Amino acid sequence: MFTSPFFRRLFIPYLILLWLGIGWVGVFGAMRLRTSYLDNTRQAMKNESHLVADLAVPLLKNRDQSGLSELSKRLGGSLGRRITIIDAAGVVIADNEADPATLDNHHDRPEIIAANTQNDSDSVRESRTFHETLLYLAHRIQLDNGDIYYVRLSEHLSKLDESLRALYVALIAAAALAMVGTGLVSYYLAHRHAAPLVQLNEFATALTHGDLASRILRPQNDEMGTLAVSLNAMADSISELLAQAGKDKAELAAILESMSEGVIAANLKQQVLLVNDAAGRLLAFPPREAMGKNLWEVIREQQVLQAVKQVEIEGGRTTVTVGPVAGRKLEVTVSMFPAHGQAEGLVVVAHDVTESSRYQELRKEFVANVSHELRTPLTVIRGFVETLQDGAFKDPIKGPQFLNTIQKHTDQLANLVNDLLELSRLESQPSLPRLQNVDLSSVVRKAADLLAPAAARKSQQLIVSAPNQLPPIVGNMDYLERAVSNLIDNAIKYTRENGRIRAVAKAENGHVIVEVSDNGLGIPEADLARIFERFYRVDRSRSREMGGTGLGLSIVKHVAQVHGGSIEVSSTPGEGSTFRFKIPAASSETSSV
Ligand code: ADP
Repeated sequence: MFTSPFFRRLFIPYLILLWLGIGWVGVFGAMRLRTSYLDNTRQAMKNESHLVADLAVPLLKNRDQSGLSELSKRLGGSLGRRITIIDAAGVVIADNEADPATLDNHHDRPEIIAANTQNDSDSVRESRTFHETLLYLAHRIQLDNGDIYYVRLSEHLSKLDESLRALYVALIAAAALAMVGTGLVSYYLAHRHAAPLVQLNEFATALTHGDLASRILRPQNDEMGTLAVSLNAMADSISELLAQAGKDKAELAAILESMSEGVIAANLKQQVLLVNDAAGRLLAFPPREAMGKNLWEVIREQQVLQAVKQVEIEGGRTTVTVGPVAGRKLEVTVSMFPAHGQAEGLVVVAHDVTESSRYQELRKEFVANVSHELRTPLTVIRGFVETLQDGAFKDPIKGPQFLNTIQKHTDQLANLVNDLLELSRLESQPSLPRLQNVDLSSVVRKAADLLAPAAARKSQQLIVSAPNQLPPIVGNMDYLERAVSNLIDNAIKYTRENGRIRAVAKAENGHVIVEVSDNGLGIPEADLARIFERFYRVDRSRSREMGGTGLGLSIVKHVAQVHGGSIEVSSTPGEGSTFRFKIPAASSETSSV
């Protein structure tokens, strides 16, 4: 507290003023004490001189020398003063403290000279007899016969000073006590007045240093107290606002971080204010180091920087497509962000459009493929129909041949439309319809039975190994039959006559596997990865010749996927291929479906 300047400014002047007051009162009191003491002594001596004079008059009339001497001694003793009786010539007649014979003439003493004119007079001076300062009071007596005498009383000032000294000591002690008392009172008052201000100051300093938990305790019941209560309330509001701001910031950060879009916010000087990890990932910069940097230090894509420039000049928003940046294709939107109706900065939002643009590409490719697949049989059909119309239908040999060709291509068209429908159904259905426990062994047997005539036509050996005790799988019977049929059908199609096809159903590590192998044409290494794509065929014309649509394996792959399984292939050109269609076996809970 004592270190507080405000406290010192209150306490020290208070103290100085009070001590000066006490000192002045003390000195003035001491001076007054001496004067009034002298006045009182003078008055007392005057009265005493009159008394002595009254008693001395009869003795003086009788010129009773010894009586006077005895009177001066008696009264001097009881009054405690020196009493001197002097005649008009200045000769000392009696004196209680000195032998009159030894005393010189007193006519020139100032009090004696003055007593001639004033009756009573006094003087303070050094005694020629005692060589010390004395207070003299002389009273003139005029007898009836006109003789003049003087009664002079004197008091040693050393005696007076002695009495005064005791008083002075008491006075000094009282003053010292008063000083200590006033010091304590000043300290208390200064403390009382300074404490709230010091507390306010400490509180404000704590707030400035970010200590928002600091409060003014026990506010007083005055204006300072009201101020303290208001400041406490203000600190509460600030804490609440800051907590809210912190919460908002955390929320914003959480939102930004959960976004798949990259977001960069910058002020009008293009300094980065906000950035999320996605922005760093998409635009290939370290997001943690981007804060406070300029946009051109962070973003390297010139197209985006140009868009930033354009939006800065023209306002509004601009979208540019960039990439590939780090292997991704991006759509970047730059726009102004207004706050309170005024442009405050720029927001750069980067979307990863790699997938969607790939999807667009695939869609375009698919439409082109479908059109192409449809066009070929349609062109053939139209050509043969026209030829028939031109008269060929009358030709007994070519007519039926042309009709056969038309039928083959119509079947091809029907196969294509069926496969397309099947694929679109598989892709559009989020969950499998008509789920049931399926025994893949019986599926394999059924498919093999259906396709046995086709294999027989090519004199192929179709070997089926499908044990009865296979665990069931949960799935859609139609789709599974279609998938297994596609695999056996392909094996028949792409295996020469007299070839061998093997269809095996078996259980392995919680899965049921249908393995279809052949010793046919096989698939070149380069094509293996692509044969499950739609419309992909190793040998397009052969596939068409066989009535293939290029969608069979796509359907198999989708069926495997919607059942939570997979399809694998291994093949050696000229030796044959093996397809492994793998579906998880039903667990005990699901097998009751
Ligand atoms: P397709 O209708 O042409 O048979 P798929 O999708 O069923 O279409 O098969 C795609 C391509 O994979 C076929 O065109 C063929 O080239 C190749 N392929 C499929 N199965 C076999 C197989 N067992 N042996 C050799 N090649 C095959």
